[in-house]
Amino acid sequence: MILPGSTLGVLGGGQLGRMFGQAAQSLGYRVHVYEPAADCPASAVANRTFTAPYEDAEQLAAFARSCAVVTYEFENIPVAPLQAIAGLTQLHPRPEVLEVCQNRLREKRWLKREGFPHVPFAEVEAGGDLAAAIRSIGVPCVVKTADFGYDGKGQQKVTDETTLAAAVRAFAGARAVVERYVDFSCELSVIVARSATGETRAFPVAENIHTRHILDLSLVPARVPDAVAAEAVALATAIAERLGLVGLLAVELFLGRQGQLQVNELAPRPHNSGHWSIDGARTSQFEQHVRAVCGLPLGDPGVREPSVMVNLLGDVWRDPTGPAPQSPDWSVVLRQPRAKLHLYGKATARVGRKMGHFTVVGPTLDAALGEARAIKTRLDA
Ligand code: AMP
Repeated sequence: MILPGSTLGVLGGGQLGRMFGQAAQSLGYRVHVYEPAADCPASAVANRTFTAPYEDAEQLAAFARSCAVVTYEFENIPVAPLQAIAGLTQLHPRPEVLEVCQNRLREKRWLKREGFPHVPFAEVEAGGDLAAAIRSIGVPCVVKTADFGYDGKGQQKVTDETTLAAAVRAFAGARAVVERYVDFSCELSVIVARSATGETRAFPVAENIHTRHILDLSLVPARVPDAVAAEAVALATAIAERLGLVGLLAVELFLGRQGQLQVNELAPRPHNSGHWSIDGARTSQFEQHVRAVCGLPLGDPGVREPSVMVNLLGDVWRDPTGPAPQSPDWSVVLRQPRAKLHLYGKATARVGRKMGHFTVVGPTLDAALGEARAIKTRLDA
């Protein structure tokens, strides 16, 4: 067990690292952050920040030696240097887990091999025949880059010969995955924690609404039958166990029109769809992450009150494409007693950039959703 007073290391200095650091410090830990970019959101709450590339084996080793355990907030980290630091300190999740989850092809092959429900797909190697893969899956389908994709970046929907030709041009030479387009009734996610002791606890299922491929709202508890929620939790827990994961795993799922669940993506880290837990759960996902990697007893992830989390993208800033975007009037959120505002301290707002979020809790999910939507409309006005 790694006790409070020890130093925890986090690879990646974005908002997830920042909120991990805040939770770790509340429990009395020290926090070291490793991030290539200067002035990252997590550095503001870190006891020490290592600013160096992920390929810098020397800096990574110095970072690792300064920490009792290292974890990630970001999965697009080259695996080779991580394997090197795994011998210097505890590293959770294991680099092998990251290797599966950071590449769509490996992730999908793994889900298929292990027998977990997933969206049918075809593989295209670099320079391979994308058009043939699209024809084998059929339209509509979605073409995604195999490496380093997130938030809909590097993906394109194909519906006919014109969009097929456009995808062939856009993905020329890239490794890709072609997936059947899923006509889902909703998108769900489950965040499960697995501790170094093998204990697992899953957060209640979140219902996620995306706008332009980026998470817009998360509603908890999800508006799905209890049996579906139980199946989603069982699936996520089984995946975490099969991966031998220590830390947090977010499992994104599609719920089909006939009630069937299919895994879309895995992320071995805290997840945007778990931010509601800071204000709406008995234990936040960030505290749970700390507990899991330190081998502490896991906290109760239960819902305190139905919650709706709304992402705040740079789009809500005034003139977000201009030279000096202006932040909106935050009193619109702050005046509401049931709303909590979280800003990530990012200096520059850009369209599509996650700048913060707010969570509204309520006596019912409908009440929280109504208030969240009203606040968002006023911010957008
Ligand atoms: P991803 O980066 O794979 O999580 O995709 C981002 C979002 O795009 C998902 O949350 C879905 O809203 C949408 N999407 C991705 N793949 C598919 C698919 N095969 N069928 C339908 N929608 C999809």
